[in-house]
Amino acid sequence: VKPVPSDIAVSRSQPPKDIQLLAREIGIKKSELDLFGDKKAKVSLKVLDRLAHVKDGKYVVVAGITPTPLGEGKSTTTIGLVQAIGAHLKKNVFACVRQPSQGPTFGIKGGAAGGGYSQVIPMEEFNLHLTGDIHAITAANNLLAAAIDARVFHESTQKDDALFNRLAPQNKQGVRVLSAVQKRRLTRLGIPVVDDGNLLSEVDRTRFARLNIDESTITWNRVLDTNDRFLRSIEIGLGPQEKGHSRKTQFDITVASEIMAILALTTSLDDMRDRLGKIVIGSDKDGNPVTADDIGITDALAVLMRDTVRPNLMQTLEGTPVFVHAGPFANIAHGQSSILADRLALKLVGPEGFVITEAGFGADIGMEKFFDIKCRYSHLQPHAVVLVATIRALKMHGGGPPVVAGAPLKHEYLEENLGLVEGGCDSNLRKQIENANKFGVPVVVCVNKFATDTKAEIDLVVAKAKAHGALHAVVSEHWAEGGEGAIQLAEAVIEACNAKSNFKFLYPMEMPLEKKIETIAKEIYGADGIELSEAAQKKLETYTRQGFSALPICMAKTHLSLSSDPTKKGAPTGFTLPIRDVRASIGAGFIYPLVGEMTTMPGLNTRPCFYDITIDPQTEQIDGLF
Ligand code: ADP
Repeated sequence: VKPVPSDIAVSRSQPPKDIQLLAREIGIKKSELDLFGDKKAKVSLKVLDRLAHVKDGKYVVVAGITPTPLGEGKSTTTIGLVQAIGAHLKKNVFACVRQPSQGPTFGIKGGAAGGGYSQVIPMEEFNLHLTGDIHAITAANNLLAAAIDARVFHESTQKDDALFNRLAPQNKQGVRVLSAVQKRRLTRLGIPVVDDGNLLSEVDRTRFARLNIDESTITWNRVLDTNDRFLRSIEIGLGPQEKGHSRKTQFDITVASEIMAILALTTSLDDMRDRLGKIVIGSDKDGNPVTADDIGITDALAVLMRDTVRPNLMQTLEGTPVFVHAGPFANIAHGQSSILADRLALKLVGPEGFVITEAGFGADIGMEKFFDIKCRYSHLQPHAVVLVATIRALKMHGGGPPVVAGAPLKHEYLEENLGLVEGGCDSNLRKQIENANKFGVPVVVCVNKFATDTKAEIDLVVAKAKAHGALHAVVSEHWAEGGEGAIQLAEAVIEACNAKSNFKFLYPMEMPLEKKIETIAKEIYGADGIELSEAAQKKLETYTRQGFSALPICMAKTHLSLSSDPTKKGAPTGFTLPIRDVRASIGAGFIYPLVGEMTTMPGLNTRPCFYDITIDPQTEQIDGLF
C-alpha cells in the first residue's frame, strides 16, 4: 500500500502463522519447542546436538555507516533481506536480532522490530515481555547485588568463629556441611576438601569465611528495565537494622547488566554457569578480585537464567523465521544478539542456507565488536558484511546541517544534493568500507531507499561504494515493498557469500590491553593515538596484574561519530582518542574503556511515549506503541 501505513498498522494487517507450523517448516521437532502462546516459542539447545553433523549455512552480519540520531535502518534491512532470500528466492534463511529493552519503548523511541513492510511480528510481543528473558536477568542481577551487600554486612557484624560456623555449619555427626558451590570454590583455591568439607585449617577458616570486600570498589549495580533517572545515584542501607552500613550506588537499565552480555556471548548452559561465576564484583582489601563464585551464588544465578539460553522463535511479515535473543547495550557491552541463536540458526538453515545477524551502532563499533568479540567466542566465520547507508546520513557526513531527533529534516535532506552525498561517500562510507575490508570479509553496501532519495543520488552512492572497495553496492526498497524490494540486495549478498573471504581479527588476544585499545583507535576510528587518564592507566595496570589482560576490548564510544566527539561527522583525522576510565566485564569476557561519559540508565523526558500508549480492555488491543 502506498503511502506505507504506520508500522503497527502494517504489523497488524498480517496475521502470523502458528509458531508450531513455522517450527515444523524449518525442521524443529515439537519436543524441542517451549510454546508461549501460538506466536512465539523457545527452542531447545538440543537441536545443536541433533544437527551436529549438519554443515553450517553462510553467516552474514548487517552493519551500517555512522548513523544520524534517527537510525539508518539496519534492523529494517536485516528483516527485508531475509524476507527476500526466504520468501522470494526460496532459500533457507534465518534472521537473528536483539530483544529490545522495555525502557525506551515507554520512553523515547519506538521498538526495534524493523519498519514498514520489513518487520518481525507481532510487534507488541516482540517489544514487550517476549518470553521473560530480560526479567530473568533483572532477577539474577539483583540477587547478586543483594548478596554482596548482605555479605559485607554479615562479615562486619560477626566474629570470625560465628561467621565460619554459619557459613560452614556442622551436622549432627560434627561434619561440616558445605554446599556444592562452596566445595567447588575451595577446590579452585587449592584448599583440600575431605569428608564433606570437614578439613579446614585455621588459616583456611579465615580465607573461607572472610571475603573482606572493599566496599569502595564494588562495581556491581542493581538494575531495572525502566527509564528511571532518579535511580542513577542512590544511597542504600539507610534502615536502622543495617547499622550504618549505607553506601552510594546506582541502578542501571537491565540490558546494561553484565548478565545480559553473558547471555549474548555464552555457548551453553554449562558455559553460562562458568561465566556467571567469573563475574568480578569488586576487589578485596588486598586488591584481589572478588567474584560471584566467591559469594557462593554461581548456581543460584544459573538457576534463574536457565530458560534464557533457549533462543526465542518468531517470524517476519512474510513468514520467515527469526530468533530474537539477548540485547546487550552497544556501548558498555557489545550490542549483539546471541551466539546461541546464530549457531542454532546456522544448523537449521544447513549448508545451502543463510543466517543474517545484526550488529548494533555503526560499523566502527558494532561490526568491530561483532568480529573481535562475538566471533572470537563463537568461533564462527562470517562470509559477508552488509553495510547499510542512507542518503540522509551521507549528506550529513558530507557537510549537511545537524539531524536532530524529533525536529523536521532541513531542506538539504529532502531535495537532491549530489555534492553533499559525494562528500559523505568520500569520507564516512569510504572509511567504513575500509574498516570492513580490514577483517578480510566481502562488503555489500546497501542503500536503504527513502521516498525523497533521487536516482542520481543513489547511482552516485553505488558507483562510489564500488570505487571505495565494496564488492557490490545496491539500492534496496524493502521498507516500502517488503522482501520483493530487497531481491537485488539478496542476490548481491548470496554472491558475496560465495566470494573469497579471508576473515581475520584486528588484534591478537595476547596483545597488551593498552596496545589493543590503541590499535582499534588508530585502525578503525582513524585517530593518531590514545590518551589515557590517570584513572584509566591505573585500571589497566590493575586488570593486567589480576590476570585479565588477554581479553578482547569493548570500546564504549559514541556511535554518532568515528571520533569521540558526536558533532564531528565524516571521517575525522588528526585527533587523539581520550580514554577516561576502564572497566571490566570478566564474566562476559571483555574489558571496556570509557571514551567520554556513558549513561547506563536513560531517563524519561517531558513527554514520554507512554502518553500515546493505550489498551482496549474489550479486545485487549494495544495502540500507540509505535
Ligand atoms: P537501526 O536498526 O539502524 O537503528 P531501524 O531499522 O530501526 O534502524 O530504522 C530506524 C527507523 O527508520 C525505523 O522507525 C524504521 O521504520 C525507519 N526506516 C528505516 N528504513 C526506512 C525507509 N527506507 N524509509 C522510511 N523509514 C525507514
